Amino acid sequence: MTITTRFAPSPTGNLHVGNVRTALHNWLLARRVGGRFLLRIDDTDKERSREEYVQAIRVDLAWLGLVPDGEERQSARFDLYEREFAKLVASGRVYRAYETSQELDLKRKVLLSRGLPPIYDRAALDLTEADHDAKAAAGEAPHWRFLLNRGSPIEWMDGIRGLQHFDAGQMSDPVIRRADGTWLYMLPSVIDDIAMGVTDVLRGEDHVSNTATQVQMFAAFGVDPPAFAHEALLVGSEGKLSKRLGSLGMAELREAGIEPEALVAMLARLGTSQPVEAIVDVDQIAAGFDLSTFGRAPARFDEAELHRLNAQIVHRLPYARVSHLLPNGMGEAAWEAIRPNLAHINEAGEWWQVVTGPIARPELEAEDRVFIAAAADALEAQPWDENPWPALTGTLKEATGRKGKALFLPLRLALTGREHGPDMAALLPLIGREAAIARLRAAA
Ligand code: GLU
Repeated sequence: MTITTRFAPSPTGNLHVGNVRTALHNWLLARRVGGRFLLRIDDTDKERSREEYVQAIRVDLAWLGLVPDGEERQSARFDLYEREFAKLVASGRVYRAYETSQELDLKRKVLLSRGLPPIYDRAALDLTEADHDAKAAAGEAPHWRFLLNRGSPIEWMDGIRGLQHFDAGQMSDPVIRRADGTWLYMLPSVIDDIAMGVTDVLRGEDHVSNTATQVQMFAAFGVDPPAFAHEALLVGSEGKLSKRLGSLGMAELREAGIEPEALVAMLARLGTSQPVEAIVDVDQIAAGFDLSTFGRAPARFDEAELHRLNAQIVHRLPYARVSHLLPNGMGEAAWEAIRPNLAHINEAGEWWQVVTGPIARPELEAEDRVFIAAAADALEAQPWDENPWPALTGTLKEATGRKGKALFLPLRLALTGREHGPDMAALLPLIGREAAIARLRAAA
């Protein structure tokens, strides 16, 4: 049986690492079994939702490779909500209430001062039709609450947290619709999960209590709830819910040279018992994705770790993946020679410049200059094949008795102008015979 997951962001801001992680996990959950991953734009809040954020969400998901198999927008589904809501009105599972937020506040305070849980007292259930008519005549519009079934315990087997149990008697009937007719999050989400055929809801543990309510909403529609799993939230490396984390967006990470593969590899495993590894192949990550490996403790996100992982990922990226990001003329052999020295792809240009020149002329000791002159002669004399470096260093070692650093460093300095860099055996063929001889002569 195939599964359908969904990612349901509200377009009230840019995606940050925390919600991208939720998106990724839903994508992986579906991907692992060839299921469907849907994007649902939760834009019932007209005031706070922005089209530019909807667009940015799509761009960010595409950048990460998390392409949805379908997209729905809540703002285009109000007719559906109206029809489904009417069913709940007919079955008596929603009711009208009129308390202002000040009145509700006061009720809560009174209960708390008596040491009681601040649960809504359902006073509105006692209103008669005549009361409602009088309110309407006075121009007072109702908001709507969902009537919890207090007779039935709420239970579900959470894919991460195990068996969850809630007592509906300890919960307030949630307001699902405001007096102006607009929807709160709770009910449309259930209606959509049913209509979109969502089989698995994986989201942050900040939604656990919503799930308790929503389980009863599924039941009110006569539908089995999807499988639920709630993951521990992401926290900063200092162990707190950091402001930085909540605002660390994809644009900023892209700007910093973070590759999507690095973010995917890291977020896929963070908070699980599996080690974070530099895995480029997302199907390999998906194959091992397993909710039972998720821990209950908050997952720690460390930006420095992401940068380290990014370097390891860059060292593994194939040429075809990066060719359009490289300087003109830089081919596969150059990429493979240079990538082990990169923390970010955009540093490739610097090393390509070392290959193509001009390079800084190094200051060498007199003794080393004699040695480099001998190297120029040797290189001129030897046949230029695919592997000129071992031949050159072999000849020089024998002729001069130099070895190790004394042998290699002056050559590297003369050929590249730098003390460190990519493997010379890979670099020398790229520099080419004429340029290499010229650089050696210039440094000698
Ligand atoms: N729009 C909700 C949120 O951003 C979706 C929650 C859910 O996954 O149902 O938290």
